[in-house]
Amino acid sequence: MSSSPPRVLVVGAGLTGSLFACLLRRKLKDRKVHIVVWDKARGAGGRMSTFRPPDPSSHSADLGAQYISTTREYAHSHHSFYSELLAAGVLRPLDCPVEGLRQKDGGVDYVAPLGMSGVVKHFLQQSGAEVLFERQASGLYRRRASWEVRSKQGGGGQFDAVLLTIPVPQILQLEGDLQDVMSSEQKDVLCGVSYSSRFALALFFPPGADVGVPWAIRYYNNYDDGDKANVICYAAVEPRKHATEADASRGPSLVVHTGAPFGLRHVECDIEEVQPIILQELQRLLPSLPQPISIKCHKWRYSQVTSAAAGCSGHMTLSERPLLVCAGDAFTHSNFDGCLVSALSMLDAFADVM
Ligand SMILES: Cc1cc2nc3c(=O)[nH]c(=O)nc-3n(C[C@H](O)[C@H](O)[C@H](O)COP(=O)(O)OP(=O)(O)OC[C@H]3O[C@@H](n4cnc5c(N)ncnc54)[C@H](O)[C@@H]3O)c2cc1C
Repeated sequence: MSSSPPRVLVVGAGLTGSLFACLLRRKLKDRKVHIVVWDKARGAGGRMSTFRPPDPSSHSADLGAQYISTTREYAHSHHSFYSELLAAGVLRPLDCPVEGLRQKDGGVDYVAPLGMSGVVKHFLQQSGAEVLFERQASGLYRRRASWEVRSKQGGGGQFDAVLLTIPVPQILQLEGDLQDVMSSEQKDVLCGVSYSSRFALALFFPPGADVGVPWAIRYYNNYDDGDKANVICYAAVEPRKHATEADASRGPSLVVHTGAPFGLRHVECDIEEVQPIILQELQRLLPSLPQPISIKCHKWRYSQVTSAAAGCSGHMTLSERPLLVCAGDAFTHSNFDGCLVSALSMLDAFADVM
């Protein structure tokens, strides 16, 4: 390794990548290391994204993750992280009317008053990393003791260690030497990872609009009766979910998620095809909704992990030297605690290289 500070590339500014960048910085304290984060999107958050409508007269809407549920065990073992987020005002206990069936295991629920992307941004800001958006990793090439990582937009770089936190099917599509460094067993494990697919639809209303429902969060029964899989399984109203003071200058927003069977059936459809189906179902479920000023529909091809990487405790090391690791919820489970377990599991391996 050269005498200049080691360079670490984290691919993905979602929760796992941002947590890892922050934790690595904290662990290395004053030791010099250059942490670089790339994300193909225009901002941080990944599946914890918060969409701000083009017309700022409506509240923003979380399109992916909605709130954070922790079990008693994780509330205990991850106590310092929850305390940090509560103290910073990034999280607060969920305290809003919830209707419909909801699985509960006795743990604690938190909402993010500034939107779920605020959780990711909190850790990213503390990482001191150089963060580059609209930078999509397209291939990894082994160059003696380092990795050359190429970007679809041009402008790649040379790194001493690389962490991939992108969904596993996207890891398997990367070009270069990746396929050569992984064993056939590792490839089998990665090919066994699967995700549900969902659509999110957000409606943004003008100031003063009344959405005409008493709840902040509503679950609809998930059923799959042949062709009649239910379209909508979840709905939430902002700013009610966040329990923040209603801002008279901004109208409410409503976000709905489609059920997993519907997502599976329509995953190859365009948003333009699916949006009218969701809107029609919404009209049936909530006939008194006012006219929105704008609508945003998003397809989550990789929503929540339904089958995690077998036998992994948070990450998979594809190459020891130069270090190449893949991680994320696919190596644990799809929520805050799952991403945190993944980020923590890699710290020692990276710190040893620095
Ligand atoms: C609809 C939905 C509802 C959910 N509900 C909840 C919930 O209520 N509570 C909860 O805790 N969790 C929930 N989850 C799960 C949670 O959002 C995820 O577990 C978590 O966000 C995963 O974080 P990650 O960093 O591992 O991956 P991601 O968030 O997917 O981050 C990966 C990042 O990599 C970027 N990327 C991809 N390819 C490239 C590339 N080639 N180059 C550069 N960047 C790239 C992406 O843009 C993305 O930002 C939900 C998810 C969805 C989709």
